[in-house]
Amino acid sequence: MTIFDLNERVALVTGGNGGIGLGMAKGLAAAGCTVAIAGRNKAKAQAALKELRATGAPAEFVEFDVTQEKSCKQAIEQTAKKFGRLDILVNNAGTTVRKQPQDLTAEDWHLVMNTNLTSAFICSQAAYPHMVKAGGGKIINTGSMMSLFGASYAAPYATSKGGIVQLTRSLAVAWAKDNIQVNAILPGWVDTDLTRQAREQVTGLNDKVMTRTPAQRWGSPDDFAGIAVFLAAPASDFVTGAAIAIDGGYSVMA
Ligand code: NDP
Repeated sequence: MTIFDLNERVALVTGGNGGIGLGMAKGLAAAGCTVAIAGRNKAKAQAALKELRATGAPAEFVEFDVTQEKSCKQAIEQTAKKFGRLDILVNNAGTTVRKQPQDLTAEDWHLVMNTNLTSAFICSQAAYPHMVKAGGGKIINTGSMMSLFGASYAAPYATSKGGIVQLTRSLAVAWAKDNIQVNAILPGWVDTDLTRQAREQVTGLNDKVMTRTPAQRWGSPDDFAGIAVFLAAPASDFVTGAAIAIDGGYSVMA
């Protein structure tokens, strides 16, 4: 279907070498998109590239550190140069430091904010001229249930993810005139490296997630393939500034 066709399109997915980012990258590749995945871990990236290339779509790894402004800009330029254009940016790389607010250091705070929020601004700004040149573009930002709720162990994380929603709205309003749509996804609890740690660190988390999620399961990275294709494709050309929960009903449970 043409409204979901991503042939001739080029995407960069930060944190696309594993977890939710790889789930989204696989969706984009299956729809015909050329996909660059950006991250630090080369071994994970090689395994991810194997999966992506199995769809028949071209895929490359861009090594970068999302906390470094220069590195973000280089990743964007490298992708645009390699493939001749950049149409889709997925700001997905993320981290957390789970401590009570009184125990957090300023370094913890900056690490989480730089990784989750500042990077999304820097990468979007660097991608903007390429999208304008292409006649339009799509930006997908990864928020969280912590964009909506708070947790005692997640002050910087929840702040960064709340900020992602407001960044999404601001960019959506500013760049609608350029035919660039900017949207956020808000994942519920998803089984990835990030949450495997959480299950060890947060007592009773598994039970809480199972009780609170109407779908009665953890999400899987593959649950994010479809929304990535929708938000990257012409099908969503009149959708911008939205924050869409992909959470098995977690955020609507009374
Ligand atoms: P993962 O740990 O699997 O993925 C995180 C990704 O971010 C990795 O690919 C990692 O790459 C990349 N990354 C982190 N720090 C850096 C850095 N400094 N430079 C470059 N890349 C970096 O976890 P998830 O898939 O769960 O997380 C993906 C996104 O989804 C995050 O934004 C997270 O906050 C969000 N999210 C996750 C939820 C969940 O339940 N899992 C729920 C809500 C939101 P590398 O390994 O190469 O460093």
